Amino acid sequence: MYLKMAKRVLLETDKRLVWKFMRLMGWKGMRSVQKHKRRLKKGEYFPPFLYVSVINSCNLRCQGCWVDVAAKQQTIDLEAMNRLISEAKEMGNVFFGIVGGEPFMHPELLEIFEANPDCYFQVFTNGQFITDEKAKRLRQLGNVTPLISVEGNEIVSNERRGREDVFNKTMEGIQNCLNNRLLTGVCTSVCRTNIDDLVNEEWVDRLIEMGVMYTWFHIFRPMGPDSNPDLCLTPEQQLHVRKFVSEMRAKKPIAIVDAYFDGEGKALCPAATGLSHHINPWGGIEPCPIIQFVTDDIHDREKTLTEKFNSPFMRDFRQLSQETTRGCIVLERPDLLRKLVDDHGAKDGTVRGTAAAELDAMQVRTSQYNPGNEIREASWVYRLVKRFLFYDFGVYDGHDESHSQLSAPALVELQTDGNASADQNDELLPVISQ
Ligand code: SF4
Repeated sequence: MYLKMAKRVLLETDKRLVWKFMRLMGWKGMRSVQKHKRRLKKGEYFPPFLYVSVINSCNLRCQGCWVDVAAKQQTIDLEAMNRLISEAKEMGNVFFGIVGGEPFMHPELLEIFEANPDCYFQVFTNGQFITDEKAKRLRQLGNVTPLISVEGNEIVSNERRGREDVFNKTMEGIQNCLNNRLLTGVCTSVCRTNIDDLVNEEWVDRLIEMGVMYTWFHIFRPMGPDSNPDLCLTPEQQLHVRKFVSEMRAKKPIAIVDAYFDGEGKALCPAATGLSHHINPWGGIEPCPIIQFVTDDIHDREKTLTEKFNSPFMRDFRQLSQETTRGCIVLERPDLLRKLVDDHGAKDGTVRGTAAAELDAMQVRTSQYNPGNEIREASWVYRLVKRFLFYDFGVYDGHDESHSQLSAPALVELQTDGNASADQNDELLPVISQ
């Protein structure tokens, strides 16, 4: 299987792009994580993986989207991006996740990539703006991998993404990337309406046949003004996805990314470990894309980025998160997060101005943390890579499970439908606050 994967990479992708990826992400990316580890020993944080939402606008209207896509367009312009990237590079960073809105609606997106040939960019996109011409340009640049989201079959895609003919247009974008031999990924936010169609071997085989090199199965998070909690997976379904990913990694010649488990299958939160944080289109610095509260922004020249990532709000967020759960504090303890926001006077980072009310209305839900049900990576390669580069960096050493959210077995019993009801919420919160 590993040989097949190596063969695929060498034969199906432009070799120059593979070399760029190996040099920038393999070698320099690895060194950026080592620097992060050294900083952690001194109690300093600067995330080696920065996710930047460069624009709020989008051509689609996905269910459960938390970005103000219909609001007045806001972008992080070339100059601000270059400043941000230079400062991050000084800390040893090389990777930037580009998010939106739809990043390809940003008028200067390609200039950003061009201005920073020593960095590697992963663009989270719906793929619909990737024409053959744009894919050719990405191939010339060589430092970009498109990660294109597919949210279901033809019918489900239209329903999930609020427009017509979404699946075919997205598949066209993927094909344009593949025709130009780009290192191309496909991701899915797995929810109740697409789990059966996409979390299966047939879909993975189809991606391999097409020439897709990697995939990423996120778990749907119910956030935003219209959070669509009905789409949430049950705890059993979440476990099923985790098992599937681990098995496919050992079986199929395609890379599968995840951000929530170490090699032994123990859960972690990349924002709590300081491995990644997020910058919104207004420049606000947020712990992660779904925590839309800020005390600092990148446009303020009085402070360095390091100072901003080590602000009282960001530090206390990480500490609270580390002490509370190895999973997602937003899902498990929105009440604690709300208190943190209030204590620090963090501003609502949205245009709609309802992020606090949305947090108040959230119900307790299970996240990736599922003690007793850890699924170790079946693939020795992933186990090895994760042991050195992707784990909790010891930040959970003081973590006390009894202090954490609902123990997963208790929650599984309560949450047959993936959500605690309002009444259950009230019953549970006093218990988990002890
Ligand atoms: S807080 Fe939750 S959504 Fe944010 S990075 Fe952590 S686990 Fe993911």
